[in-house]
Amino acid sequence: QLVLGIETSCDETGIGIVRGGTVLANVISSSMEQHARFGGVVPEVAARAHLEAIEPALREALAVADVRLSDLDAIAVTAGPGLAGALMVGVGAAKGLALATGKPLYGVNHLVGHVGADYLVDTNAPDRAAADDGEPTIALLVSGGHTSLLLVRDLISDVELLGETIDDAAGEAFDKVARLLGLGYPGGPGIDRAAADGSPTAIRFPRGLTQPKDLAAHRYDFSFSGLKTSVARWVERQTDGAMEVDVADVAASFREAVVDVLLGKAIAACQDFDVPRLLLGGGVVANARLRAVAAERTEAAGIALRIPPFSLCTDNGAMIAGVGARLVAAGHPPSALGFGADSSLPVTTAQV
Ligand code: ATP
Ligand code: MG
Ligand code: FE
Repeated sequence: QLVLGIETSCDETGIGIVRGGTVLANVISSSMEQHARFGGVVPEVAARAHLEAIEPALREALAVADVRLSDLDAIAVTAGPGLAGALMVGVGAAKGLALATGKPLYGVNHLVGHVGADYLVDTNAPDRAAADDGEPTIALLVSGGHTSLLLVRDLISDVELLGETIDDAAGEAFDKVARLLGLGYPGGPGIDRAAADGSPTAIRFPRGLTQPKDLAAHRYDFSFSGLKTSVARWVERQTDGAMEVDVADVAASFREAVVDVLLGKAIAACQDFDVPRLLLGGGVVANARLRAVAAERTEAAGIALRIPPFSLCTDNGAMIAGVGARLVAAGHPPSALGFGADSSLPVTTAQV
């Protein structure tokens, strides 16, 4: 199946083209720099940027894949979750394309797309085999907009939300703490760089929702706003005491707290559900410490670790096309054209 995927849920305009499980094109245009001075994604700015980027990205993807619209078997688009105005640009464009070409249209779930990235063979990384063997997977999706722990038994029909953040997303925490430390936006790369010269054990920052009293109701949930506040207080106390803030130590200790909680809960889920496979997805997967600790701890626990190439970890159109291809292959009917963007689409709905 030759499927075009359109992704506009946040600040990446992604147009991907897949044939079955193989990525033919994966064009990503990000409006990230436009949000830098606000320290976070501004919904109106993102929506406008999608409007400008979507047509050139579509032309580029068709050229890279060397296919024409008339060759497509289907079109897939992110229907949610995400920013409403941003989603609407993609959904509107996809409907227009579907009407003009007569191709079937599938509205798909963004988070399911992140999981589906693991089923794609990226032609830019030909040595990587796709994990399409029907084995269950625990997926940890960490980005600027979401922090979700999923139990995936079947990509289309059986994805269970085990837990998610009850306040800030992991990437958002990186962005806010980086801002506090003057490390720029997006925060992840700045924290990573600063942390390289610091000690992860210099300051013991709190691990949210890991105390016995929290675990009963929030075993697989996350909380990062307390951590952010704790970092802010620590910096304040140093400054008030006329002490120098060791940015490297703060960055390393903060990063350690985030990574510790993310992987502690993800590995606990693998063990609780007897699922010996952990998949990471989302922009925070770029984090050097997250990758290193994930490798260590999964190996110690006998869990297979899967990390798609980075171009398939951040928001992209190929992962959406990939879900579309599976829907087509499994004989699912296309979505009724009346569907709209659903900013809070639950992960249990793979297709609208
Ligand atoms: P969505 O939440 O819809 O997936 P998003 O645009 O918020 O979209 P991504 O683009 O996947 O998310 O990721 C961006 C986030 O990843 C930012 O919050 C950024 O700080 C974080 N990030 C990027 N690099 C790193 C890194 N090295 N370490 C930690 N976080 C990082
Ligand atoms: Mg982004
Ligand atoms: Fe995403």
